Amino acid sequence: MGDQKVITEVPAALKRLAKYVVRGFYEVEHSLALDLLIRYPCVKEDDLLALLKFEKKQLRAILTSLKLDKIIKSRMRVETGEDGKATRHNYYYINYKLLVDVIKYKLDQVRKKIETDERDSTTRASFKCPVCGSLYSDLEVNHLFDPASGEFHCTYCSAEVEEDASALPKRDARTLLARFNEQIEPIYLLLRETEDVVLPCELLEPEPTEIPELMPSFYQMSSGNMKDRSERWSRSTSSINMYVQDLVVNLQDSNSNTVKSANTSAKECPIWMTQSTVLGASVQPSESNRADNVAETCDLNANTKEPIDDEVIRTLLIHEKKSSAQESTTHSSAHQKESSGSDTSESDEDSKATKSQLVKPPGTPSKQKDAEEDEGDNDPVVMIGGRPHMYSEVSEHPELVSFMTGEEREAYIQIGKLMFHAMYD
Ligand SMILES: [Zn+2]
Repeated sequence: MGDQKVITEVPAALKRLAKYVVRGFYEVEHSLALDLLIRYPCVKEDDLLALLKFEKKQLRAILTSLKLDKIIKSRMRVETGEDGKATRHNYYYINYKLLVDVIKYKLDQVRKKIETDERDSTTRASFKCPVCGSLYSDLEVNHLFDPASGEFHCTYCSAEVEEDASALPKRDARTLLARFNEQIEPIYLLLRETEDVVLPCELLEPEPTEIPELMPSFYQMSSGNMKDRSERWSRSTSSINMYVQDLVVNLQDSNSNTVKSANTSAKECPIWMTQSTVLGASVQPSESNRADNVAETCDLNANTKEPIDDEVIRTLLIHEKKSSAQESTTHSSAHQKESSGSDTSESDEDSKATKSQLVKPPGTPSKQKDAEEDEGDNDPVVMIGGRPHMYSEVSEHPELVSFMTGEEREAYIQIGKLMFHAMYD
């Protein structure tokens, strides 16, 4: 512990953790407010107001709810204004140690709740025999199925079993825990990553931060082209402005060629840019030549410092992952239909394959292909917790049934019935 590096800045993983949590569990306005506190360690309420352009009441409500949840802390300071009057000001900041503790505590509570529900539902039977009163869990459903009638019959008295309605509402708990673990995993990874981080007091209880964008001297500091640029940007958006500052500084550092091309791209491009004698440079000017504002922004983004870029992309990815996961679940049911309807195209491909058999190893028997096709026909796709699985896979591993939602289970049973009917008709 003694030879640990002295931390002078809050690690990026902790900042990401804060972003992740606020985006996952709060409104977008909360995220915007917290983003500012991630960027500027300790901000006066008035400054937050000026940067976010929320209504005063709205901002206060957001800050209060974040504070009650212990995501942020606040501190009151009495300041003497120019007129000599003392006024009180609220400052807000993130105490990352408190934040981590709160996240751990809350996740633990949710997990416990789900686990309790799970325990309740697994001990409960989901099928009941109305005649002899035998109880069956859904893991035993496979043994109860009678292919001749397509019904589920009691092992002891052969009466048709009934679904135990009292067990139904809680059955999703198991799927819920799996889904919870899956969704929370990135947060766990970040928690693990930051486990050994010990922040010094000045980072946990930061001093008020001066915000350059809000200082009167900010625009005078920049000059020439840079001034035009930052003013143009600041007029359109205020919160984006904080990135612009880095952007401008960075442009100055990067090679002058790209700066010039970015600055002049909106106007006419000189001939030396479009027909450059420099090897490899011809691509970039021609691109920025037809660049509208959007493309120009992209170009500029490429020049910004990597950590910020990285942070933005990571933040965007948080949403990206979620939506793509949802898409896959909604599409997979369509996939089921597709697989049954694609018989003709498959056989088309099959005939193509036989034509081009010369390419294939001569020993490949065409029977094997037929067998595969048959299997595909008779092995429909069933959903387990929103993910497609082969029917055969589930019948080999009946415990998978327990991860299905009520609807998925219903569909699985229906498919089973249809399959057995098809076999015996
Ligand atoms: Zn019975």
